[in-house]
Amino acid sequence: MLNIVLFGPPGAGKGTQSERLIEKFGLVHLSTGDMFRMHINENTELGQKVKQIIADGILVDDSITIAMLEFEIDKHPDSKGFIFDGFPRTVAQAEALDKFLNEKNLNISKVLQLDVDENVIKERIALRQKVSGRADDGADKLLKRIDEYFNKTVHVLPYYIAQGKLTTISGVGEIDAISQKLFSAIEN
Ligand code: ADP
Repeated sequence: MLNIVLFGPPGAGKGTQSERLIEKFGLVHLSTGDMFRMHINENTELGQKVKQIIADGILVDDSITIAMLEFEIDKHPDSKGFIFDGFPRTVAQAEALDKFLNEKNLNISKVLQLDVDENVIKERIALRQKVSGRADDGADKLLKRIDEYFNKTVHVLPYYIAQGKLTTISGVGEIDAISQKLFSAIEN
């Protein structure tokens, strides 16, 4: 099984590149951001619980996030592999994911980091804001999300460096060229 973590700040292109990777390798896409938005749209109990947190651009509790992700993994017992997008965002989440996969004799194959400078991200999201309609894409909330990434989420990287699993790829340039670099990182 090919299990990939796609890592990078908001606006790094994780969504776009995930689509390419899914198509190329036949993976199931698990985006915790998409899962939370689905719960909010459907007004589930979980959605009600996290709605304000997400609108504020801060991270949802590990316990809630981990349980939701594990539930989604278990829906796809026959998958060729997963692409984890937006998860893990904390070391506790990374550890929980390893433990959960190990219990099934699975593991993370590779972690691909899309590296994009903070200023470039801010420009990109300013454009996306106009079309996304996302409640958390407003300017101050966006800064909060970028902050959460650089203050909390980046601490996950050393965890995967220690396992020898991290490959960093620049997320700046032609979309196709970036996809090719991701493909070869996976295939080598
Ligand atoms: P972005 O485009 O900022 O990377 P996502 O769509 O991945 O955002 O996630 C949107 C929001 O959902 C986050 O700002 C956070 O509130 C919540 N969220 C998503 N994934 C996680 C996670 N793994 N842990 C905690 N909160 C999360």
